[in-house]
Amino acid sequence: MTIVSRTRLGVLGWPVAHSRSPAIHNAALAAAGLEGWRYQLLPAPLPLLGELVRALPGAGFAGANVTIPHKRAALSLATGASDRARAIGAANTLVFGRGGSGEIDADNTDAPAIIAALPLDPRGRTALVLGAGGSARAAVWALLDAGATSVAVWNRTADGARRLATELGARAVSRVGAADVLVNCTAVGLLGGELPVDGELLADCGCVVDLVYAERETALVACARALGIPVVDGLEILVGQGSLSFERFTGVAASRQAMRAAAGAAAGGNLAPNGATA
Ligand code: NDP
Repeated sequence: MTIVSRTRLGVLGWPVAHSRSPAIHNAALAAAGLEGWRYQLLPAPLPLLGELVRALPGAGFAGANVTIPHKRAALSLATGASDRARAIGAANTLVFGRGGSGEIDADNTDAPAIIAALPLDPRGRTALVLGAGGSARAAVWALLDAGATSVAVWNRTADGARRLATELGARAVSRVGAADVLVNCTAVGLLGGELPVDGELLADCGCVVDLVYAERETALVACARALGIPVVDGLEILVGQGSLSFERFTGVAASRQAMRAAAGAAAGGNLAPNGATA
């Protein structure tokens, strides 16, 4: 049996061209002295996702991150999953079996990254999650797991919010209201100017987390900062989830400082909707 040396990593998405994951992971690989390792974009249209994922270990990949729109599908391709990835129903991290086996282990590092980044303890607090995609599932699960008393979910397509809320034990809402923790998990803001909620609502929120990052500060982050509300931006979440994935891929601690510097430096090109992905 040929043992393939696995020193390649990447991010699977469609589209994925403007992801800053290669920048932050390559910076962490360099900081850790992992010579010969490389992290790259892996553009993957949905019909080819399964074939591509199964081919990666043989091509020298130790693991891959997963972003829009594949987080749900990635979990179904895995041969094993962490309890939290299974409970969330979505994965952003795939680790390929060592020693030439065909195992694919799935995890979700978005969830712990969101909780770790919060400027307040979510225990006993209310939360509003905007969106019903892969990252919204992680946010809802993580907030409930961390002790939030009431987690409301709003989505453009109401059915999506209802399904997610029923599966994870949250509450679907058709109108948004203020909450102690507001988390934006929609793609709104990628192009800069748009707000996912009425700016006035933010004044009554305890803190705002925007998973979206764009070339410039998103409108949501700018609006919350102008109101003096504590804010966690998408680059902080990127570094948080990316560093946890890095440790699973390599077994080595990630330099968050190197990742942060690279995230800030790697301003994207022309960001398209859904184009600036994790
Ligand atoms: P999905 O494709 O799974 O979900 C996208 C969500 O955005 C859906 O709820 C969708 O609603 C909503 N949406 C899309 N366009 C609009 C719009 N014009 N108005 C209102 N809602 C809209 O994506 P993910 O959950 O994986 O990612 C969501 C965002 O979070 C992305 O921008 C991604 O880059 C970012 N992200 C960032 C991370 C980071 O590390 N910073 C980590 C994870 C995600 P509908 O169901 O109606 O289509």
